[in-house]
Amino acid sequence: MEARPCPLCQTPDPRPYFTVRRHYGGHSWVLALARCPSCGFVFVPEPPAIAYDEHYLHEEGIITGQDPLEQVRVEERLNAIARRVPPGPQVRLLDFGIGDGHFLAQAAARGYLPYGYDINPAGFALARELYGLTAEFSSAPLAEAFPATLFDIIHLNEVIEHLAEPLVVLRWCADHLRPGGLLVVQTGNIRSLAARIMGRRWIYIRPAHVSYFSHRTLAFALQQVGLRPLSQRSIDWSVAQALRATRAVIRQGRWRDGLHFLAVTLTGKIPNVRRGVVIDAVR
Ligand SMILES: [Zn+2]
Repeated sequence: MEARPCPLCQTPDPRPYFTVRRHYGGHSWVLALARCPSCGFVFVPEPPAIAYDEHYLHEEGIITGQDPLEQVRVEERLNAIARRVPPGPQVRLLDFGIGDGHFLAQAAARGYLPYGYDINPAGFALARELYGLTAEFSSAPLAEAFPATLFDIIHLNEVIEHLAEPLVVLRWCADHLRPGGLLVVQTGNIRSLAARIMGRRWIYIRPAHVSYFSHRTLAFALQQVGLRPLSQRSIDWSVAQALRATRAVIRQGRWRDGLHFLAVTLTGKIPNVRRGVVIDAVR
């Protein structure tokens, strides 16, 4: 069977990158990653069929709202967004892939008008239950989701790596941003030092992840749908905020978590070291 072409630039015949075996949901999965010979995008030409249900939310550790480290991540992400688009009662913020709703609940508390999209409606129930979140939710097929709404901000946190055809969703985002609206995307960075040191053992390579970006391919993908990248970074939070959160978790007896977070913070200030990449782009 012929492998599908590059989802970003349509170049045929992707080259083998590497093959790994992973366990998830009681199954063993073989993931064969490939790399586009033209734009360098790394993807899984034959994506495994993963069910995004409530089990997925629990198994992948997505329920995180009480964790001080996660609170800092969310607060500082919202601070970064607010510097570009300040909150207001008419400022529409769409979280595309809401997880357990923690980010969206905090965005609503800041004064943004919250909207949530997710293919997994289990997250909507969790968001109501855990955070009392009231927002406009949709899990409809994309063509029917928020058809007449233009958003001021669309946020995709750890979503795009799950999409076999990321340009379909990015194009939808571009069409649903008001002119000058902001798109914020966070995903893994397969060209990071962390990813290259770990190679096949990189924990980010997992059955649910089928698109592996870098600073370069993420910017390229956004440009393909007519968005203009503004800036990229590995982490959002400051050293001062990291110290505050580290103290909080150490008080909970979580020394290892605290020290790891501090190490991530310090190395995250150097480009292309940590596993994450965050990009801001405007329409
Ligand atoms: Zn390509």
